[in-house]
This record gives sequence, C-alpha cells and structure tokens, in this order.
Amino acid sequence: MSKSDKLQIWTMVEIHQGKADSVSWELIGAARNAVALGVESGGCGIEYDVTAVVIGEHVQEIAKEAISYGADYVMLVDDANCGTYINEVYQHALFEMMEEHQPDIFLIGATTQGRDLASGMAAQLSAGLTADCTQMVIGPPKEDMPCLLMATRPAFSGNLMATIVCETARPQMATVRPHVFVALERDETRKGKIVEFEVKRPFVNDQVKILAQEFLAQATGGIEFADVIVAGGRGIGGKDGLVLLKELADVMGGKLAVTRACVDANWASHEIQVGLTGKTVNPALYIACGISGAVQHRVGMQNSQKIIAVNQDADAPIFSIADVGIVGNLFEVVPEMIAQVKAMKSGMGAK
Ligand code: FAD
Repeated sequence: MSKSDKLQIWTMVEIHQGKADSVSWELIGAARNAVALGVESGGCGIEYDVTAVVIGEHVQEIAKEAISYGADYVMLVDDANCGTYINEVYQHALFEMMEEHQPDIFLIGATTQGRDLASGMAAQLSAGLTADCTQMVIGPPKEDMPCLLMATRPAFSGNLMATIVCETARPQMATVRPHVFVALERDETRKGKIVEFEVKRPFVNDQVKILAQEFLAQATGGIEFADVIVAGGRGIGGKDGLVLLKELADVMGGKLAVTRACVDANWASHEIQVGLTGKTVNPALYIACGISGAVQHRVGMQNSQKIIAVNQDADAPIFSIADVGIVGNLFEVVPEMIAQVKAMKSGMGAK
C-alpha cells in the first residue's frame, strides 16, 4: 500500500481486553459521513480510502471486524510488545506508519486512551489536532492537498460552534467523542485488505512499567448505552420531579438523564448529566422535559434519532431541534404519557 492520489483517511481502533471499543467503528462511519457531506455541499467529489489502524496482540479478528464496519484497508501491527496500551509503544508504531504512508487525515476516539495517544502523536508529528469534534465535513481542495477536513467543535464554553481547518500540517487530526457519530451496519461480506505493517526500529519502553492490571466490570448500564432517555431540566422543580420522570423512563424501558442545572442544584448526580461537560448520547428516543435547550445541553443529545420536547414556553430553543414538541406543563403531560404507555402495554391501546 503506497501513497496514492486518493484521499487517505485513517481511523484508530481502540482495543480493551481483546475487544474493540465501539467508538472505533463510529470513527469509520464518521469518515464516510464527512466525505458524503462534502460531496453534498458541492465541496469535494473525491476518491478516498478509509484505513483502520489496529495495534495490539492477537488482533487479527479485530482487523477483519474493521473491514466489516466499513474500512477499505487495515494497517495492522500484531506484536507481543503491543498487548497492553502504552503510549510510548503505540506512538512508536504509529509514527513509523505515518512516516511511511503519510495519511491526509487521522481520526481518534476522544476516550481516555485516545486523548492520550492523539495529543502525543500530534506533538510528535507537529500536526494540528481538533479535539471533541461534533461535526466533520471534507471540504474543498487547497494547494497540493486534495481536500481539507473541516472539523466543528463547541468553543467559548459552547456558546460558539467553531469550524477548524488545518491548512498546512499533516495529517489533519481530530478526536471524536463516543456516541457522537453512528457506526455503519456491520457487513461480514464487505471486502477490504489487511496490510501487516512491520515496525522496523526496535520498540523501546523505558517510561512505563505495568505492575498490575485491574479491570472494571464493563459499564453498559449508563445513559450512553440507552435506547430511550427521559431527561429532566430545571423545569422539574426538584428531586420529586425526577421521581415522576424516572417512572416514565421505567415504563418505557429507558434511562433517566438530566441537564447541568439539575446537577448544580444537587437533584441528581453528574453521572447522568448530558451535554458539553456531561455525556454525549444518541438514543433512538430522547424525551426532554422542562429543558430550555441551551447549546451546551444540545451538543450532548442533538444526534438522538427522535426528540420529543415538553416545555411550557412555546419559544424554548429545544423545540427547534425537536421532532415532536408539546407545549404544556410537564406535571400534566408526563403523567398522561405514563398512563398511555401503560395502557398500550396492557393491551388496552392508547386513547
Ligand atoms: P433552564 O435553562 O432554566 O430551562 C428550564 C426550562 O424549563 C425552561 O425552558 C422553562 O420554560 C421550562 N419549564 C419550567 N417549568 C416547566 C413546567 N412545569 N413544565 C414544562 N416546562 C417547564 N448544561 C447541560 O445541560 N449540560 C452540560 O454539559 C452543560 N455544560 C456547560 C458548560 C459550560 C462551560 C457552561 C457555561 C454551561 C453549561 N451548561 C450545561 C449549562 C447550560 O448553559 C444551561 O444553563 C443549562 O443546560 C440549562 O438547563 P435547563 O434547561 O435545565 O434549565
């Protein structure tokens, strides 16, 4: 695999205990989506390849998985030195790959590991890095580069969405939070090529020594994994309001979430806060109750597939992104919703 005329987009696969983190597949989806948006906006009708980088030990199966999630190529380092993530070791392998293949764009998950790796790589490569992107478009070409990555992220405490372009430094790097983009449907019949990359310089690891490892039980019960979220804002008035919303969440098999206003008021824990300084979610259904829709909240939930908003103020900004808006008092609307869902579930049908 050598540098071709096609735009080369690379994405990092993050592995924990022999399994790929789902953000890895979301990055491949994000790469293809960025090209599609560029073409749609008339910016960049280019040919491109998406290459997933897999570094680890005994990770051949993960390389195949990357192809089924949409990678054209996989750049694979399967090496006993890489069994556990250590920045120095992974960066060493990545740097050699980058030197040899010079990708145009490199996307990494904005996870603890990804942030560690991305910042180190950007410093080593003297590349620009846009962190925590919420939108990406492959824009018009510039000088000898086929196309530019236009990466958008909240700036100035979320009061502004800034689109950042790295005109000269390469690769153009960006991190993306989990659940901001959607992975492609897994397709085992997809064809791609796995390139086994040989790291030439010997690995050095004199900075970090792993003395013991302890794994936390995989937390899949959090709001970031929920299909249905019922979220409350300051309009719920206090902890009692949350009890009502929790009842709706329970009958719908969903999870309760809140805005920062509720966390600041000590009504709920930060664990279930959605937004810029909380979690990013993309459930099938997000029911926002008594939430005004401040931009710092919206960046954490605006990619939900369907949004229902309940607010007594018809001009609340949340309605501008809602699929269904209910103007009313949540203390009247939510009990009615609970009753309707219960009635449907018991086979009586909705009124
Ligand atoms: P409000 O804006 O006060 O809205 C309450 C809404 O409830 C109003 O629209 C009102 O009409 C409605 N209402 C009142 N009573 C009823 C009723 N009975 N029935 C129906 N509707 C009713 N916010 C986040 O959520 N997440 C973040 O991660 C986050 N990070 C931030 C980071 C920074 C750096 C900054 C500066 C701010 C951040 N914020 C965050 C705060 C954000 O700016 C807003 O202040 C916050 O989201 C507002 O929360 P809210 O919608 O619950 O409250």
